[in-house]
Amino acid sequence: MEKIVILTGAGISTESGLSTFRDEGGLWAQHRIEDVATPEGFARNPALVQGFYNARRVQAAGVEPNAAHKALARLQKDWPGEVVIVTQNVDGLHEAGGARNVIHMHGTLAGALCSACGHRWGAPPEMAVGEPCPSCNRPTARPDVVWFGEMPYHMDEIYDHLASASLFAAIGTSGQVYPAAAFVHEAQAAGAQTVEINLEPTLGASGFDTYILGKASETVPNWVEQLLARPS
Ligand code: NAD
Repeated sequence: MEKIVILTGAGISTESGLSTFRDEGGLWAQHRIEDVATPEGFARNPALVQGFYNARRVQAAGVEPNAAHKALARLQKDWPGEVVIVTQNVDGLHEAGGARNVIHMHGTLAGALCSACGHRWGAPPEMAVGEPCPSCNRPTARPDVVWFGEMPYHMDEIYDHLASASLFAAIGTSGQVYPAAAFVHEAQAAGAQTVEINLEPTLGASGFDTYILGKASETVPNWVEQLLARPS
């Protein structure tokens, strides 16, 4: 049975009300990435970084999955082969939409990580500066999200999936953040068909076999419908 590997980015969650990197007026636009999404930024100003992620956690708790998240969950349920969802998003909207075993390569807002001992636990809605780790008791709690300059999670598992994919889809991701931006080439090297679903072709768009342009809430359900209608 054909295996489908799907990479999603911030664009799949915009219509749920979570801004992407570049959306004007969004949380990200009000801060420099170096200040809020790097280990150096956290070391310089932990209050700013904790405040930024606290605000994102509040925002993410108040939104609902959209038709695109739900369509991917339906594909996972009804496709006769395996459907693997890898997301760069730190929100929980895929799971809220019914998806299973989502691979969060950039971590999640729901998690806390001890930067001293590596212990992980559920993040409180508001994480304080110097909050103690429940395991080692040092004041080194941080959001369990992957910052620029850090190694994304689950990479071996993701590359294994890409190596055995028949179809690879990149949905709502700008293709500017590595290593995710290179997944299309990994999938192609394994012989997979590739499709990009986005508002516009991204910079690396010449690498995809097919493009579906438009809002994810419309394009993704249509794409899923077509896949499921394909004669097996
Ligand atoms: P990005 O902001 O760089 O790019 C978003 C992409 O989505 C763009 O190519 C844009 O054209 C497209 N897009 C916007 N609205 C769309 C829509 N309605 N339908 C289809 N496509 C749409 O996002 P990225 O590539 O995911 O950037 C990577 C980083 O941003 C990740 O590290 C991620 O953790 C972080 N991020 C996550 C969230 C979230 O968890 N919801 C939000 C903002 C940023």
